[in-house]
Amino acid sequence: MSEDFREIDEMTNEVIVEDKDVNVTVEDDDDDYEQVCMICHRPESKAGKILTMPGNLNICTDCMQKMFNTAEQFGLPEMDGFPGFVTKMEIPIQQMPKNAKLADSAESQGDETPDDEKGKGKTSGNPFQNVRFINLNDFGLGDMGMPRRQKIKKKKENKEPKKFDRSEIPAPHRLKAMLDEYVIGQEKAKKTLSVAVYNHYKRVCATPEDGVEIEKSNVLLIGPTGSGKTYLVKTLAKLLDVPLAIADATSLTEAGYIGDDIESVVGKLLAAADNDVEKAEHGIVYIDEIDKIAKKKQVSTRDVSGESVQQELLKMLEGAEVEVPVGSNSKNGMVPMMTVDTTNILFICGGAFPDLEEIVKERLTTQSSIGFKAELRSRFDHEKNLLTKATVEDLRKFGMIPEFLGRLPVLVSLEALSKEMLVQILKEPKNAIIKQYQKLLAMDEVKLEFEDEALGLIAEKALEKHTGARALRAIIEEYMLDIMYEIPKDSNIGKVTITREYLENTGGPRIELRGQIVEALPGN
Ligand code: ADP
Repeated sequence: MSEDFREIDEMTNEVIVEDKDVNVTVEDDDDDYEQVCMICHRPESKAGKILTMPGNLNICTDCMQKMFNTAEQFGLPEMDGFPGFVTKMEIPIQQMPKNAKLADSAESQGDETPDDEKGKGKTSGNPFQNVRFINLNDFGLGDMGMPRRQKIKKKKENKEPKKFDRSEIPAPHRLKAMLDEYVIGQEKAKKTLSVAVYNHYKRVCATPEDGVEIEKSNVLLIGPTGSGKTYLVKTLAKLLDVPLAIADATSLTEAGYIGDDIESVVGKLLAAADNDVEKAEHGIVYIDEIDKIAKKKQVSTRDVSGESVQQELLKMLEGAEVEVPVGSNSKNGMVPMMTVDTTNILFICGGAFPDLEEIVKERLTTQSSIGFKAELRSRFDHEKNLLTKATVEDLRKFGMIPEFLGRLPVLVSLEALSKEMLVQILKEPKNAIIKQYQKLLAMDEVKLEFEDEALGLIAEKALEKHTGARALRAIIEEYMLDIMYEIPKDSNIGKVTITREYLENTGGPRIELRGQIVEALPGN
């Protein structure tokens, strides 16, 4: 029953055609994103049909019905003839911006009633005499200002839920071979992780018809800082092409306390999956610094960032439906919520567990002193990779609760990096630091080389910093700065070799001009 109202604009004599019908249209967009009800914040996959009101206000049919019921309760005369009822919201006049146009029903219909009479509500029979409606469009809130990243990606309809094709997941030996191209050493860790990941995705594809349910193989990575824990997980996610979220356990607190809620971790994964719930549900979550949420030894107050966080993580690690805000890590009224099932998400927790070595040493000493081979505690003082001998019992002593450890059945330990490994890290991985500098200089048609002795010295310097491979870049950057500054000055330079003398400040790099060799320049 569309009804056009024609008016003549007095200034321009133009005919204004205005559709006064309440313009309720069902959104049929070919957009990939779901509409979200602005009242209950449910997406259309949950709330059903969403109606788009003028001004792009999206309301689900349930909320619409509730509004009609409420309006009826208050005795609204005729809903059909009430233009723009749901399109306009009542906002106290004092809170309105100065430039917002008043769309008072009386005013807009040319009612000349004086203000004082309007205020008293004496004139027409309109029960909304004292209520002024304004158009939300005037505030620029037409589509509630919702950025795209807060929208929810539509689940593909009429499509079988995406099952992981097992053939897409490389077999463990292939996965390890791919990891070898990026990660130096850590053979045992790469092998264990490849098998764990392969089994995890097999489990995702498995049908539970025969009653055999494969349990989740979440992983606990332990290893010194800078030994490649995060790097290993990042590489794995890249190779498998699954979304990855990296969270820091230190920022997590029990719900209700200052800090991030546990669910924020899944929120990050959803964001990494481009708000595609299906994709997120097959992703990987890496929680770093997990040793920082160990049970505190002596606590007089509530342990909101330690044991309580472990407790809250339990459900999520095992598999739970988590309500996460889309595109934000705070749950507030304006943000739509989405339910993510964590059953098929692979959780990998990692930490350096600094005092764990002492606990392992303690255990090994006691064990060996009981038997014939009583050994001195000092024997283990020089043992470099004590962490690789850690057991679940040691971790429990460290402060991890048994239930938590039970949900991380795969224990992987990484070795501390040796000088030789650091040298390899400098030159061998696909994305090695040296290869990166070589590429930069190659753009100026200059060849860059490092003497083996120079690489050894860089590795030694990195070892002194006790931050694993992290120190390498900072050290090499320091020496490369001058090279990168000086070389482009002279277009005759064809090759630069970084020598040990240059790093020790007793000489300069060896420079070769195009077509001839020149002796090392003096150091600076
Ligand atoms: P952490 O164990 O503290 O998480 P990271 O994974 O962040 O350490 O390592 C820091 C950086 O060091 C990585 O970005 C990576 O470039 C390099 N790195 C560390 N270990 C290795 C390794 N085994 N092979 C290759 N690169 C490594």
